Amino acid sequence: MQVSVGAMNQRPKTREKSKERGFSTNSVHGHEYYDSETGLFKVPIYMTSIWEQFDRKTGEQRKTERNVDLKYSREENMTVYALEKTIRKLEEAEDSLAFNSGMAAISTIYFSTLSSGDRILITKESYGLTQQLAKDLEKYGIETVLAGPETQELVREINTKVKLAVVETITNPLLKVVDVEEVARRCSETGTKLVVDNTFATPVLLRPIRHGAWLSMNSLTKYIAGHNDVIGGSIASDSKTILQLWEWRKKLGNIMNPFEAFLVLRGLPTLRARFLQQSKTAQELARFLHDHSKIEEVFYPGLEDSPYHSIADRIFYEKAYGGVLSFKIKGGKEDTLSFMRNVKIIKSTPSLGGVESLATYPIQSAARGMTEEVREELGITENLIRLSVGLEDVDDLIADIDNALG
Ligand code: PLP
Repeated sequence: MQVSVGAMNQRPKTREKSKERGFSTNSVHGHEYYDSETGLFKVPIYMTSIWEQFDRKTGEQRKTERNVDLKYSREENMTVYALEKTIRKLEEAEDSLAFNSGMAAISTIYFSTLSSGDRILITKESYGLTQQLAKDLEKYGIETVLAGPETQELVREINTKVKLAVVETITNPLLKVVDVEEVARRCSETGTKLVVDNTFATPVLLRPIRHGAWLSMNSLTKYIAGHNDVIGGSIASDSKTILQLWEWRKKLGNIMNPFEAFLVLRGLPTLRARFLQQSKTAQELARFLHDHSKIEEVFYPGLEDSPYHSIADRIFYEKAYGGVLSFKIKGGKEDTLSFMRNVKIIKSTPSLGGVESLATYPIQSAARGMTEEVREELGITENLIRLSVGLEDVDDLIADIDNALG
């Protein structure tokens, strides 16, 4: 469903009054799988690289619903396709593709869209490899401009020379909320293709296509799979774009494998429930840290004194702000690393969105590739920790953090 950008001033409902099914129903049943011979309505793992090419009754080439050949699993696999059907509904997009990592999705977007002489604009405070890969394309004559992370700074840099703009709905690691609608409006004036990396917000909070984005991208590794046991990525867009990207996926050979697609389908039915619970716990932890004597500053759009609180309330479909928060410890690098070593329930590792709570040290992970100058400008300092909240009891997490701070 496409909604005009101008109509987006009110917060869209998760479910509009229509015959369309709601978000949660789609996350459970969106794959529409049904085997009439056996009555099976759970998606099986099609662990095969090949499919008999021609239908024995009609003699015709077998095709999937998107009218591409079904013969070889580097191109199309029915478990992966079932996942793509679910994702396209959750994203309110015409079609979707699944990849073997978030970076595979991003690299396919770059390869398929950019030519020598093009300019790509990327949020300064975005995932390090998204930036680095774009910079590596300089050797093919592609220019990268880093801008933002504030919405107005992004909008100012978008002009007719920018072919592709890549923004993250919630930035990493300082959790700034970008007004996707406003960026999309500017992109439509300049003819720029807008890619929204929606990994931190997920389609639970925002469905970028509905607000004018050309393409919505997710690292499925995070909330969507949700259990820290899958690496994957997805894109959603209009059918024509997806067919073009499908051709690139075939050539680059980076389709998701069927077992991982099954795991993502296994995680999806609980996406909204998990995400809202993780947001609730993150909100409580943010308040706890905000009042803690050993904490210098907390970054979380759910805090009422966050400068991004009102944007979040305006553009997100739920009164929730995600399960990731960051904070600065009073002290230096040693104190910060000591916190990372001393947490027990929380594990120190650079991912997010899964059932286990994880602490990340941004200067050695997401922000590692940034120049010191950019890190300083953004405020990514040696005493900064990013926390991805899982599904443990909030009291246990508070005790774990308090203990490690002590
Ligand atoms: N986008 C964001 C916002 C990320 O945080 C990450 C990984 O952390 C990626 C993209 C890349 O995804 P993946 O690790 O699945 O390749």
